[in-house]
This record gives sequence, structure tokens and C-alpha cells, in this order.
Amino acid sequence: MIQKSINSRSKAKILASPGSVILDMSRMNRILEVNTDLAYCMLEPGVGFYDLHEHLAQNRIPLWLSIPGNGWGSVMGNALERGFSRTPYGEHTNSICGMEVVLPNGDLVRTSTGAMANSKSWPLFKAGFGPGWDQMFCQSNFGIVTKIGFWLMPEPPATLNMSLGLPNVDDIGWLVDVLTPLRISGVIPHNVGIANYLGSATTASQRNEWFEGEAALPDEAIARIMQRYNVGWWNFTLTLYGHPEVNEIHRKIIEDAFRPHTSQNFRISRWNKGEPGGGPVPSVFALRVVNWHGGRGAHLGFSPILPGKGAAVVEQVHRTRARYRESGCDYSSTIYVCGRHAINVNLMLYDKDNASLVERTNRLFAVLVADAAAAGYGEYRTHLEWMDEVAASFDFNGQALRRLNQQVKDTLDPNGILAPGKSGIWPQRFRKDQP
Ligand SMILES: Cc1cc2nc3c(=O)[nH]c(=O)nc-3n(C[C@H](O)[C@H](O)[C@H](O)COP(=O)(O)OP(=O)(O)OC[C@H]3O[C@@H](n4cnc5c(N)ncnc54)[C@H](O)[C@@H]3O)c2cc1C
Repeated sequence: MIQKSINSRSKAKILASPGSVILDMSRMNRILEVNTDLAYCMLEPGVGFYDLHEHLAQNRIPLWLSIPGNGWGSVMGNALERGFSRTPYGEHTNSICGMEVVLPNGDLVRTSTGAMANSKSWPLFKAGFGPGWDQMFCQSNFGIVTKIGFWLMPEPPATLNMSLGLPNVDDIGWLVDVLTPLRISGVIPHNVGIANYLGSATTASQRNEWFEGEAALPDEAIARIMQRYNVGWWNFTLTLYGHPEVNEIHRKIIEDAFRPHTSQNFRISRWNKGEPGGGPVPSVFALRVVNWHGGRGAHLGFSPILPGKGAAVVEQVHRTRARYRESGCDYSSTIYVCGRHAINVNLMLYDKDNASLVERTNRLFAVLVADAAAAGYGEYRTHLEWMDEVAASFDFNGQALRRLNQQVKDTLDPNGILAPGKSGIWPQRFRKDQP
């Protein structure tokens, strides 16, 4: 099920096994309900971000959808993978409220209060009665989700955007230390993505405009990029949502917190209800990054979870950047300040037909998994072909988590028919060579 791309390492196990099929759920695309007052919808798996956004816009429903950087794909698929975005509802799994799931034995279950045949509160209350199972179907291969309750954000009266670019690599340290408490206390209502300079170049140009060599981009090319696009080493926008008076008070609190560290001022823009625009709109603009090297462009992303502390993030940035340089890959990094934790999304761009670059990229990915694990950091989500390696880094008590996952897998899916190997969870019949 849903094994969309061939997994080089696990190919023999996943797709070469007789009877493997890809389950295409795109025709299960009904938006079953949208409730404006209680700010939720009920969705099937084939509903994409574009579909749901269009439905809300065309029906003038004042609810906002949180959309990933690349806006294609299924709302449910992204939430089940723990996708995220930079909005107050940006941790998409957290918006799931109750599921309908087909189990590998063909049974159909509903979770949360949806487990009542005549439930009136399925999309309203997450826990239900007894154990909560929704997380069990996220990043797993335990069932096929056919419906979810999904929370949406009420349109706010106003927004206020604050953008800033900072000139030095080490600015990320104080920046994280300033933003983290503001995020935890709720002054900043969403995860803040701080992107390095490369994002402006990869969406707007190709590498050979800047540098032709096999080594990573040299500092002088980086300086030219920052100058041409008028961006800092690190760049971010944060948005305040709510009543304009409250937004202005929060703006001042944020500016006061920044004042000891920089003399630069935020670029500010405002939106008020009734004006054009406002709210996230799906776009595939971000996909342009895969054209950086030309040819058949592709990307990998390695995204470990760090403590939301400046010193830890600075250390991570320097260690990872050095690895990119050793591999001759261009360092593309975003730090998401999420409160207690930060997520470091490291993008690796390559051309599938450039054998040297593919090899160096794969080597880089492997070393980043190992470095992060040695530092005590695991990844929040990964590509099919890296799931075994990432799962192996969750190694407490001789891989106790994998044992638990596989025990559950064997119980729910004794024939091992559903997405074998997803998240490093192999059914019994496939794991003969596993310790
Ligand atoms: C340039 C770029 C930028 C991106 N930016 C972001 C970003 O900012 N944030 C972000 O979150 N993602 C981002 N992505 C990733 C990507 O766009 C999304 O994750 C996308 O939403 C995947 O959609 P899909 O429909 O193909 O998912 P699928 O591949 O269909 O689903 C993902 C996985 O979820 C599981 N799944 C899906 N449906 C079901 C189901 N019904 N039942 C059980 N399991 C299921 C399966 O295991 C499947 O492999 C980016 C990608 C690119 C290329």
C-alpha cells in the first residue's frame, strides 16, 4: 500500500515480493462536512490541499487551512506523516480528531468518540474512551485511514507579519534563544521557520549561474547570493494572528526582545479581515528548488529534532555544514523554532543522472543520520529508502521500540500485507535477517 517510490535498499523486500500493489486513494475525495462554528471538517484521503482550499474559498467559509511548503498531495496523507507548516495549526497531526480505519484483517474501526455508532462529537473530542489510537496510525503500517475529523483555523480579525534577515551564521544562536520563550509562552503562535540564504537562490536560479565546480558553493558565491536577493545568512517571517490591538502589543514585546541583539528593524506588513488575501494559499512554487542542478532534479531532506536552545542549534549547524562541505553539497538549512524543540530541515538537492552527486548525497545523508544519533537527535519523518537507518537510531534497550512496533504489526497484520518496512516496521515474514 502507498509505497510510491522504489526503495533502493529495501526494494527486494517491498516491491519484488509477489502481489505488492500501490493503493491509489485519490478517488476517495469527498469533503464530507465543514462546520464553520466549531471549525472542523470531515475528510476522505483523496482530498488535496488545493481541493479543500478551493472548497473553503468558493463557499466563503471563514476557516483557514494550514498548508505545507509544497502544496500538492493529500491533507490526510500529510497529517498522517506528521507534516507541518508555519501557521498556528501547523502541526498537522494535531488537527486530526478521530479516524475511520480499515485494519489489515478487513475490520473497520472508528476512534475517539466516533467509536459510537450515533456519535455527535467525533470531530470534537480527540480522546474518546479508553486508550487513544489515532497516533498509532500515524507514520505506521497498521491500517488504512478512510476518514478523519480535521480541525481548521477560524479566520482571524487581522494578521501582522514581521520579517528579518540576519547577516551571520552564528546569529542563529541568540535568535533561537529569543524566539523559543516567545513561542512557548504563546506570544508567537506558530512554529517559526528560519531559512538560510540558499532558499532564495534555489527557487530563482540554477547553480551554474553561481559556481561550476564539484565542491560546495564557496563563500564568495554565498556573498553574491545574499547581495543579489538582499537576504541575510538567516531569514524568517513570523505572523501574529488575532485582534489588531493584541497583535500590536505582541509586536512590541517581540521587538523589545530583539533590541539587545540587533539594530535592524523588522519589515512589517498588516492584513485586516475584508481585505484581499489573508490566509495560506496552496502553491507548488517550492518545487522549483529541485531544478538547482538541472536535469532530473530531486531532493532528500534530513530533519532531526533538537532542543530549542541556541547553543545546541549552533553546534548542529556547524557540524552539519562541515559535512555538506566534505561531500561537495550546497548547505540548505531551515531551523524551525517550535517551542521546546527545534526541527532542523536539511535539504539535499541533486540531479538523478549525476552519478557522483547522487553518491555524495547518499553518503551525506548516512553521515547526518549517524552524527545526529551520536548527538542524541532522531529524525521526525523520513524518506522510504532511509526508514531502516532512521528507525535503527531509535535504539534504547536494544531497539525496544522497534520490537514493540513489530509485535503490534504481527498482531494486527499477521500476513504482513500492509506497507512492509514502513518506518522500519517489518512484518514477521520479512524479517528473517533482522537481529
Ligand atoms: C519542495 C518541497 C517542499 C515541501 N515542504 C513541505 C512542508 O513544508 N511541510 C510538509 O509537511 N511537507 C512538505 N513537503 C512534503 C510533501 O509535499 C507532503 O508531505 C505531501 O503532502 C505528501 O502528500 P502525498 O499525498 O503524496 O502523501 P502520500 O505519499 O500519499 O502519504 C504519505 C504517507 O502517509 C501514509 N498515508 C497516506 N494516506 C494514508 C492513509 N489513508 N492511511 C494510512 N496511511 C496513509 C503513507 O504511509 C504514505 O506513504 C515538501 C515537499 C517538497 C518536494
